[in-house]
Amino acid sequence: MYCVCREHVELAIDKFVDEYEDAPDLVNLQTTSFSEWTPPARCDWCDGPAEVLVL
Ligand SMILES: [Zn+2]
Repeated sequence: MYCVCREHVELAIDKFVDEYEDAPDLVNLQTTSFSEWTPPARCDWCDGPAEVLVL
């Protein structure tokens, strides 16, 4: 699972497919709220805001 900024979505998808050999689901963190989990504020690969969850 990756939390990434908009620029790193493609990279996250590539890594996910490499790792799990399956297509990921993309969740927009700005329009989704989680009752039991707080997503990280920052992208996994840069200091940009995490906007998309790849899982
Ligand atoms: Zn990023």
